[in-house]
Amino acid sequence: MKVTGINNATKRNTTNFKGRIIDSHTHLGKWYENTYNANDLDVFYKQPLANGDVIEKMIVSNLSCIEPNGLLDELQGNKVLLEIAKNNPVLAPLAVCQPNVTKGDASKIEQLLKENPNSFVGLKFHPKRMELPADDASYNAYMKLAEKYKLPCLFHSDKTFETFYINGVKAPRCEYSRPEQIYKLAQRTPKVPIILGHLGGNEGKDTKAAVDILVDSIENNKATLFADISWVNCDTTEKPDIIEAIRRLKNTKKGDMTERLLFGTDAPIARFGKEGEKGLKPIEAYNKVVIDVKNAIKNAFPEEGEKIIEKIFYQNAKNLFFERQKKRLPDFGNIIKKAVKNKKLCFGAIILLAAIIAGNMKLGKESKK
Ligand SMILES: [Zn+2]
Repeated sequence: MKVTGINNATKRNTTNFKGRIIDSHTHLGKWYENTYNANDLDVFYKQPLANGDVIEKMIVSNLSCIEPNGLLDELQGNKVLLEIAKNNPVLAPLAVCQPNVTKGDASKIEQLLKENPNSFVGLKFHPKRMELPADDASYNAYMKLAEKYKLPCLFHSDKTFETFYINGVKAPRCEYSRPEQIYKLAQRTPKVPIILGHLGGNEGKDTKAAVDILVDSIENNKATLFADISWVNCDTTEKPDIIEAIRRLKNTKKGDMTERLLFGTDAPIARFGKEGEKGLKPIEAYNKVVIDVKNAIKNAFPEEGEKIIEKIFYQNAKNLFFERQKKRLPDFGNIIKKAVKNKKLCFGAIILLAAIIAGNMKLGKESKK
């Protein structure tokens, strides 16, 4: 792969987008031989990226609760991450769930959500590392919690097919995290947004299988599926499978559903952490994936490229993780109605609450800019 190779078409479109970014898939913690700290992520957001983009949020989960040998339990690992996120407003934490360890008892995670209201923006599951098929009944109680607390769930998704690489290496299909297995689970709680991390695994027929499932879920109202594009076409500049996913989501029987696709990187794992990869430092690898994906979208969709970029890199994740979160805050309108009914509230208090609601609405409007 030519790292700095920029073809003519790409050059034409190398504009300064200066957009905002939410990276929907990042981590901290211990991952096999590496341990990642907050400063392994802040290299990406402490200054604008090479094209002027600014990372507004990173959706982060603790690898120490995912990696089988470094296992912290659901309470320990998620609390550690929560403390780190409190000092880093860019980091928005997911609570890692371990239905393999708890045998499907989600009470620790519920305790965590109750003790830390509006702190976690979603749940994270890694069926492959847990060696627990995504359609197993042990996930059910966690999905019910996600429904109750209106939390989206990020699943590691992986290969549907056995793959033969040019160098003779053979990779089996994934026994635990295939999109079809996650889809089976998703249909039991169809309102819970479930994200297929890595779009079913990197490229070709595996990502196509994930897109087939996304489109089926949308057209037949069977589940609320999303996908992130971390590692998809990671070694090409053109990103053909990302473009194909956008094209198909733009043209579903329900209309344009590109709201279901999210930008993500899996930073600081592999090329985004420590030593970098293929001659690139982590920040250079990050700049490259942002610029390459944006250029590929602009080249494939010259008219609507900017609009699609804004959705995939920012707005879709904002709606999914942060606008939904607002709905979890107490409903002041209902509180007033009930109080008036019970004649427990004097006129002055009603005026005060009305002012609070007005203030909230104004804030909501401003944050949408
Ligand atoms: Zn990951």
